[in-house]
Amino acid sequence: MKSGFVKSSVAVIGGGWAGCASALTLAEAGIPVTLYEASRTLGGRARAVEWEGQKLDNGQHILLGAYQQTVQLIQRLGSIKGLWRLPLSLNQPPDFSLTCPRLPAPLHLLMGLLGAKGLDWHEKMTAARWAHTLLNGSFATEHATVDQLTRTQPEKLNRLLWHPLCISALNTPPEIASARVFQNVIRGAFGGRNLHSDLLLPRCDLTALFPAPAAARIVELGGSVRLSSRVTALGPTPDRITLRTCNDADSYSHVILAVAPQHLADLIFPVAELNQLAIGMADYRYQAIATVYIQYDPAFKLHKPLLALAGGPAQFVFDRGQSHGQAGLLAFVASAATHLPTDWMDQAEAQLRRSARPGKAHWRKSIIEKQATYACIPHLARPATRTQHPRIFLAGDYTDGAYPATLESATLSGVQSANFLLEQL
Ligand SMILES: Cc1cc2nc3c(=O)[nH]c(=O)nc-3n(C[C@H](O)[C@H](O)[C@H](O)COP(=O)(O)OP(=O)(O)OC[C@H]3O[C@@H](n4cnc5c(N)ncnc54)[C@H](O)[C@@H]3O)c2cc1C
Repeated sequence: MKSGFVKSSVAVIGGGWAGCASALTLAEAGIPVTLYEASRTLGGRARAVEWEGQKLDNGQHILLGAYQQTVQLIQRLGSIKGLWRLPLSLNQPPDFSLTCPRLPAPLHLLMGLLGAKGLDWHEKMTAARWAHTLLNGSFATEHATVDQLTRTQPEKLNRLLWHPLCISALNTPPEIASARVFQNVIRGAFGGRNLHSDLLLPRCDLTALFPAPAAARIVELGGSVRLSSRVTALGPTPDRITLRTCNDADSYSHVILAVAPQHLADLIFPVAELNQLAIGMADYRYQAIATVYIQYDPAFKLHKPLLALAGGPAQFVFDRGQSHGQAGLLAFVASAATHLPTDWMDQAEAQLRRSARPGKAHWRKSIIEKQATYACIPHLARPATRTQHPRIFLAGDYTDGAYPATLESATLSGVQSANFLLEQL
C-alpha cells in the first residue's frame, strides 16, 4: 500500500453496475470506500424487482460474449453460473432464423448469414459482403446514422436483421442512431473470437448476478455500503469533499460520481469546475425500454430460450422458465419504446401468437423505464471519467467509450475511473 492511501477515503455515489465496479476495484486495492445508493436495492437500471412474491427484474437484460469486463467481474465474484452462454442464434419464426456455427470468427458470421433461413441467395450474399466491409473496412463517419449506413442493404435485411440489432443494442431507432457506435458493437461481437458473439442470458435476478456479490465483497474487505442513502449535495474544500444525505454529512478525500447522466447535473452544478459538464449533460435525450412479464400455463415453453419478434412493438421474448426456472413466465421487451401504443401488451402477445400457442395469460406485469438509456446519436459528447476537479471522477454507461449504454460500458467505466483515482494516490 502506498503511504498516500492511508489518509485517502473514497465515496462512490450510485450503486448501479458502474458504481459497484468502481467500489469493488477500490476495495480490492485496499482503499477505504463507502458506496452510497439512493434506493433500497443495488443495481440501478439493472436490478431485481420484487412483485407480489415474484422475482422479476426492472427489465429483461441480455449480455454479449464481447462484454469481457462484465464477465470477468462476475467470474471473479464466483457468480458466473448466473450467466447462461448460448452461441448466437436469432430466431424469428416463421420468417427468419440465423445461427452462427462454432467456427473461427468472422467465418462463423459469414456461414451463419449464408445458412440463414428466410433470405434468398442474393440477400445472403449482400449481407455477407456488407458484414465483411463493416468488420474490415474503414469506420463509419462520425455524423452518419445507422439508417444511412444500411441504405444500400435490401429492405428485408434491414427489417429482419440490421435494424432490430441496432434497436436492441443501441436502444435508439436507426434513423437517429450513431453508425459509428453500431459498427463498434458489430466489430466487438464478430471481429474478435467467436465466443464474443455468444448471447449471455442471466439465470438469476440482476442484483444477485453482480451488484449484491460485489457489495458483499466490498464489506468483507472493510468498505461500507449504504442503501437508502441519497446524496443531496457535494461540498468540495481544497483537500476534502463533504457529502450530505438527508440524515448526515461525511467527508472524503475523493468522490466517484456513478449516477445516471440524467441525475448528474443536479449534483455537480454547484461545483464551479464542473459547471460546463453540467451544461453539456442537458443535451442528452433519452429512450424508453418496456418489459412485460406474462405468466402462462407452467407447461408452456418457447422452443428456444429467446425469440425475435416482428410486426409490433416488441423485438424479443425471453422464456424465464428456461433461464430462471420460472415455468411459463415470458418477458417481452420493447426497446426504443418512447412512443409505445397503449395496447402494447396485447400487441406483443399477438406477435408471439404468429408462431406459438401460449394459451391464456394468468397475469401480466409491465415495467416501463422511461429513461432507460440515453439516445445513442452521432456526435454525442461523452465525458471522460477524469473531470476538471482533481478529486472528483465519473463512472457510468455514458462516459467516453466505444459501446452504447450497456452493462459493459458501465463496468468498463467503473473500473477505469477507480484505476485513474488509484494512480493519483
Ligand atoms: C429496461 C432496461 C433494459 C436494458 N437492457 C440492457 C441489456 O439487455 N443489455 C445491456 O448491456 N444493457 C441494458 N440496459 C442498459 C444498462 O442497464 C445500463 O447501461 C446500466 O445498468 C447503467 O449502469 P450505471 O451504473 O451506469 O447507471 P445506473 O444503473 O443508472 O446506476 C446509477 C445509480 O445511482 C443511484 N443514484 C442516483 N442518484 C443518486 C444520489 N444522489 N445518491 C445516491 N445514489 C444515487 C441510482 O439509484 C442508481 O442505482 C438496459 C437498461 C434498462 C433500463
